[in-house]
Amino acid sequence: MHGAMSDLLTNALNSIQLGIEDYQSNDLRRPVSAVRNFYAGVLLLGKQCLLNEAPDADPMEVLGSRFAPKPDGKGGVVHEPEGHQTIDLGQLRRRFQDFGLRWPNGDVNSLQRVRNDLEHFHSPAPHQALRQAIADCFPLVEGFFALLEVDPREALGSAWEIMLSEERFFSEQKLTCDATWKQLPWSENIDKLKKIACPKCGSSLIYQEDSLNGDPAMIQGKCKACGARFGEEETITLLLEAQYGDDDYVAMTDGGDPIVGDCPECGSHTYVHDPEGPSLCFWCDFTISGDCWRCNAQLTPQNTSVNDSSMCDYCYWMTNKDD
Ligand SMILES: [Zn+2]
Ligand SMILES: [Zn+2]
Ligand SMILES: [Zn+2]
Repeated sequence: MHGAMSDLLTNALNSIQLGIEDYQSNDLRRPVSAVRNFYAGVLLLGKQCLLNEAPDADPMEVLGSRFAPKPDGKGGVVHEPEGHQTIDLGQLRRRFQDFGLRWPNGDVNSLQRVRNDLEHFHSPAPHQALRQAIADCFPLVEGFFALLEVDPREALGSAWEIMLSEERFFSEQKLTCDATWKQLPWSENIDKLKKIACPKCGSSLIYQEDSLNGDPAMIQGKCKACGARFGEEETITLLLEAQYGDDDYVAMTDGGDPIVGDCPECGSHTYVHDPEGPSLCFWCDFTISGDCWRCNAQLTPQNTSVNDSSMCDYCYWMTNKDD
């Protein structure tokens, strides 16, 4: 950063510091203010990155969210900012691209989610949720500071130290939670635990209460953030959603076969048929194999009969239609 610190950067730093101060306070009314301030600060920091790329431009021309064409008097048009609204997070990200800036790693989704949860409902675990939000977007804040060539330790002082230690604390908690699945037979197929989310509070700190258990039928899941408990089937479903949810969403919209389907043996929605991975039920361990004995079609979770797993639906229906 060269020259005097801009007003925008000063605001960004103040907002982040206020947010961290609110976060540390035990006052129950302050989580909302913590998230608002922290979120605003991160956004301003990103905006300052754009301003640095065009130091001579009018800031509204860089950060305005709407532009209107006006005749330039020479037969062409110029685009002028319309209104005083500036870009939101999604637009900031796109404008980084337009400016040829690399968007830093880090995930602001959890910060946005906490912000929505706190403003619209009563979040069951504001402190833990906030800690995860700070940890998740830590690399983003770090990346913005790197682009700005500002030392975050100097700029934020003790607020930066708190962010660092919260990030470390969260990472350690997450590692401990993730390690509790190790004994399960399919644990090596689950490597997207970062995406697991508690259906009650959104936290990714889901763990198995008995970390020595290796039997899927005995799993008892629990959320470290809000204390919610999950039975065997629900826990497996949460794990599968984290691992395959995105792929299955694409499959659903593209009309392809989803990876997770109903198990023809136990009927749970826990059968994984991954073309590049396992094919088995994560709940009852059943594996669909071979071909339909009647028509020789290869058996898959989509065509195997739930009444007789040695044949396809069609053949089951054909052989039983007269019964
Ligand atoms: Zn929870
Ligand atoms: Zn099954
Ligand atoms: Zn068949």
